[in-house]
Amino acid sequence: MSVVSIVRLQNEDVEDAVRKSVALTDSFESLPWKDATVLVKPNTVSPSKSGSGVITDARVVETVTTLVKEKNPKRVIIGEGSSVGYDFPSRFDSIRCMTVAGLLEVAAKLGVEIVDLNRDEQVEVEVPDAFVMDTFAIAKTALEADIIISLPVIKTHIRTGITCGLKNMKGVLPSNEKKRTHQLGLDRGIVDLNRVAKPTFTVVDGIIGTQGTHSDEADRVPLNLIIAGGDVVAVDAVCADVAGFDVKDILHVQLAAEANLGIADLSCIEVRGEKIESVRRPFIPFLQAAQERFGGANIIEKNTCTGCMGESLSAFIYLNKAGFHDRLSDLTLIMGTPDEIPPLSGTPVVLGRCARRYQHLGVFVPGCPPHGIKITDGACDALKIDPNIVHHAIADLHNF
Ligand code: SF4
Repeated sequence: MSVVSIVRLQNEDVEDAVRKSVALTDSFESLPWKDATVLVKPNTVSPSKSGSGVITDARVVETVTTLVKEKNPKRVIIGEGSSVGYDFPSRFDSIRCMTVAGLLEVAAKLGVEIVDLNRDEQVEVEVPDAFVMDTFAIAKTALEADIIISLPVIKTHIRTGITCGLKNMKGVLPSNEKKRTHQLGLDRGIVDLNRVAKPTFTVVDGIIGTQGTHSDEADRVPLNLIIAGGDVVAVDAVCADVAGFDVKDILHVQLAAEANLGIADLSCIEVRGEKIESVRRPFIPFLQAAQERFGGANIIEKNTCTGCMGESLSAFIYLNKAGFHDRLSDLTLIMGTPDEIPPLSGTPVVLGRCARRYQHLGVFVPGCPPHGIKITDGACDALKIDPNIVHHAIADLHNF
């Protein structure tokens, strides 16, 4: 039987909720703290502000890091490797993401180290009985940590339904390996990664979750919860249920249980604190929301990662904002690694390095990922739309 705690915030007191949630599990106290190197792994995939629901709230990171320091381990590190679209040195890298998130301030205040796991020394590991990743490179800091405390956010995801504790560990992979998990099969890749770098303890920032395509204010879901446990599979199973998903449909959580990484069967999980039924708030799934936003556009893709998909969504936002929603049904995007392309009417837009073998078919937008504005320009070219009209709308949107 695994234990997962759910604590509702009272009077917006994050520290109190985190402390209560951790204490309810009973297992945090008994971790092997003596002489331990501890990696606190938040989720700062992109340069987003604390409280946005896209990344871990800085108050959660601060409280958990304080709890860790109270145990007097040998070394404490806050470390993250931001996502593929935000891994450009000196522009949008992990340090920039953690700065925007307020985590450099937290690290300075608490006197702990901060590490960009994308730029960390990488170590090649072998994974016996792997589903798809027999070997891969991983940040040395994560591999050598005695204790990993994962601090995910509950979000919908285009491929995996939800992203929470198991998937948060992708931040310990360098960018090329992050991409490889998508190419080999993300659900199975996540499980293989967790065979090597499974969090010792997970504290979920469920203050604000993110549903749908993470595109606007309406996609923020205020849950006001902190959810914690020593079994990351059980934590993810509970979070999936809280977000209104049937955990039997969340493949990577099921596969993690199959690989003996934890328990996904809710009848074998003891939930302490709030009952799931009393806090459940169904999220709008990513694909359902994306179909509405794509406005009937034809998307031909396979194994596309969040880089190309996220940047494409920006392009759709721009085209919608510029008043071209009715033209979207004429647009075809090709991305990722589709096996074949059916006969097409009109000119498709081919996106990114993965799909470049189809670049001769239409307007090619290079990059990994290509920028949303470049994709917008490609779509304007394919649809014979004046790009200046869309650029005015973009300037309006971002207050340039
Ligand atoms: S080209 Fe696009 S789908 Fe391929 S790895 Fe880069 S961002 Fe991901």
